Amino acid sequence: MELGIADNLRKVLEALPEGVRLVAVSKYHPAESILEAYHAGQRIFGESHAQELVQKATTLPQDIRWHFIGHLQTNKVKYVAPYVAMIESVDSLKLLREIEKQGARCGRCIDVLLELHIAQEATKYGFSPTECHTLLAEGEWRTMKHVRICGLMMMASHVEDATIIAHEFEEAHQCFELLRREFFTDSSSFCECSWGMSHDYPIAVQHGATLVRVGTAIFGNR
Ligand SMILES: *Cc1c(COP(=O)(O)O)cnc(C)c1O
Repeated sequence: MELGIADNLRKVLEALPEGVRLVAVSKYHPAESILEAYHAGQRIFGESHAQELVQKATTLPQDIRWHFIGHLQTNKVKYVAPYVAMIESVDSLKLLREIEKQGARCGRCIDVLLELHIAQEATKYGFSPTECHTLLAEGEWRTMKHVRICGLMMMASHVEDATIIAHEFEEAHQCFELLRREFFTDSSSFCECSWGMSHDYPIAVQHGATLVRVGTAIFGNR
């Protein structure tokens, strides 16, 4: 017999060390599934489509914290800006500028992560470690009052070999530490490392993850 969502959730939570929080990735799953996890105590949910996030955020409990985790087109920022707790997938300066603009429009400061591209797959979005460094070194982000850069997000290569995955998480973690020391010594807000999905979150937590984004292992196949 298949376990229910609440049981799956408990199993994932039991595997997380203290200080690591779970983003339950609910994309394509219906409100009833989200509510099942919600009633089991889960409050952070991840979505990767603007329209779906807005639809769910406006109909589901108000204390849910919605994380946007997919590729976000600049013309969609205005829709999600009032509802997101965090945009984890900032992959260009253009997008960061638009979040600043829309954050100003709705009078809030939006937490974001910079998406790091380390995996081998050519299709993935994100900054290389060097590009990430350049963006922070150029410093325009320091003038932005409506975005707060809270850390990094990354996806490891989709491979079976755990040593490759571990190596990528480690590279991301070292990049995070380097950027933190160079650009965020005077602020404690740069503190999040979002890596690890259903198949690799146990590896991610051994390499600095503070947020894991788990969908399938909780809600089943999409
Ligand atoms: C879908 C998705 C996840 C969750 O993946 P699962 O394999 O279902 O756990 C995590 N991160 C991102 C960016 C995603 O798009």
